[in-house]
Amino acid sequence: MSFIDNELESVRQSCSKEVEGSEVISCFKASVRINIRRTRYKQVVVCLQFSDQYPDTPILLELKSKFLPDKLLDGLTKICEEKLKEQKGKAQILFLLKFIRQFLEDNPFSVCSEELTYIKKHIVSEGDKIVTKSKAGVIVITVNQDNYFMKLRFSIPDAYPSDPVTLENLAHNYPDIFQKMLIAQAQEMARRCVEPPLKRKPRDPPFEPAPSLQKIANFLIRDGLRKLPTDPCQVCKERAFPKEPKNVVNNAEHGRHVEWVYCGHIFHNGCLDEYMKLPPFTGGKKCPGCKKRIYHDKWNISPELAEARWAHHQAREREIDEVTDFLK
Ligand SMILES: [Zn+2]
Ligand SMILES: [Zn+2]
Repeated sequence: MSFIDNELESVRQSCSKEVEGSEVISCFKASVRINIRRTRYKQVVVCLQFSDQYPDTPILLELKSKFLPDKLLDGLTKICEEKLKEQKGKAQILFLLKFIRQFLEDNPFSVCSEELTYIKKHIVSEGDKIVTKSKAGVIVITVNQDNYFMKLRFSIPDAYPSDPVTLENLAHNYPDIFQKMLIAQAQEMARRCVEPPLKRKPRDPPFEPAPSLQKIANFLIRDGLRKLPTDPCQVCKERAFPKEPKNVVNNAEHGRHVEWVYCGHIFHNGCLDEYMKLPPFTGGKKCPGCKKRIYHDKWNISPELAEARWAHHQAREREIDEVTDFLK
């Protein structure tokens, strides 16, 4: 048997044993194709062709994948070609397959490399800090904006994107309520990326989990952390956050406590409280910024009740006026 026939035979015999998650699709001199699967999304088809002077020259390879991006496959191909030079004169196929399998194991970012590039390019800005720990699949981003900061840790699970990215806040100096609401909303957003909606129509295409990393980073950083420190209170039109984070008010009863309502606009507690008690009440109070109805737990009353309270308050005012008139 020739060198190549020998090698093909040993690939057929021991590939699935020696390379975890591998499956031989074809194994002939004209074409060798092997699928390596780490998870549903970390899957590569390795297509090989023997070079003219094989094994003194590296075997020719092409990598294909339904989910891994082309750019990543190109990079991996180059690394493999370098690696194969070490195997000159020896059997190369199993060596190469093991190397690729290990790469999939060691690179949790392989399934989100495009998202990560996007985040580095478009979401993180100069004043921020981003640290990636590729073996652990962890990305730590510290967002800095107008004296405020938040340090966030994103972890990419092995089964990503079938499992959502997990998020943790490590430190911050935003008002506490914004930290809590941002993280809770981002987690909910990530969950929805991977769980089919409860109400599905019979003709909807089969549900496919969507990547959640870029989506929640965009929401947290671009829509939230960047804008909030300078966003105006919709009533007094002044900056709602104090200029100095050390003056942040976390007491929800305080007039300068910042409230975040359903439409996304923010208010001083004191300003919003006054505004909510003023007519008109028909159809509920509307946000002065966007005219959407204001929903907030603290002011969760019907227009009728607000009207009644207003009338009662006016009557009291009149009574007091009458009394003070009388005292003059
Ligand atoms: Zn205000
Ligand atoms: Zn609004």
